Amino acid sequence: MNQKLREAFARCPEAAEALEKLKAGNARFVAGKTQELPRDSARRESLAREGQYPYAFLLTCSDSRVVPEFIFSAGLGELFVTRAAGNVLGTSILASAQYAAQDLGAKLFVVLGHSQCGGVKATLSGEELSGALAHMGQRIRAGIGRETDYLRAVELNARAEAADLAARLLKYCPEQTLVVVPAVYDIETGSVRFLED
Ligand SMILES: [Zn+2]
Repeated sequence: MNQKLREAFARCPEAAEALEKLKAGNARFVAGKTQELPRDSARRESLAREGQYPYAFLLTCSDSRVVPEFIFSAGLGELFVTRAAGNVLGTSILASAQYAAQDLGAKLFVVLGHSQCGGVKATLSGEELSGALAHMGQRIRAGIGRETDYLRAVELNARAEAADLAARLLKYCPEQTLVVVPAVYDIETGSVRFLED
């Protein structure tokens, strides 16, 4: 783990605990041990009565193979999830992140890219992206620069969006209250690699 992240986690131990929880949940998913997820009626009723306190915010791609609650073996009320093609930030994603930080008290924010991402592929191919897709392509291009290696581009995109999310959240929240981490999901093996270097 790099020095900056280590310091951020030291300032915010709840975020470090949340990261360990995500890693443990992902290990269970990879091992196929996901049958005990808390989503029964007792859980629903208690969340309705007491409100939600998700321990992590997730920005992932909309890809149907990337489902955070499955990937991290999480039940109802555990993850605050936003999704957008190419896992890029936009106004509604930022509003959700701000809400998660300010009102729900989420401490860990993860930007999760993934292998075989169509958004990154389309951007790398250089094809003209029209309409609303242009915004996605511009953000990915800004994040990956001149990178041509596909998997490296997925990683750079997640890193760039995480850095931008961190900078924007700082406007609303004191630095020591949250940690933003990029990660990459392998859609074949099911494992998540947190980019902590
Ligand atoms: Zn994708």
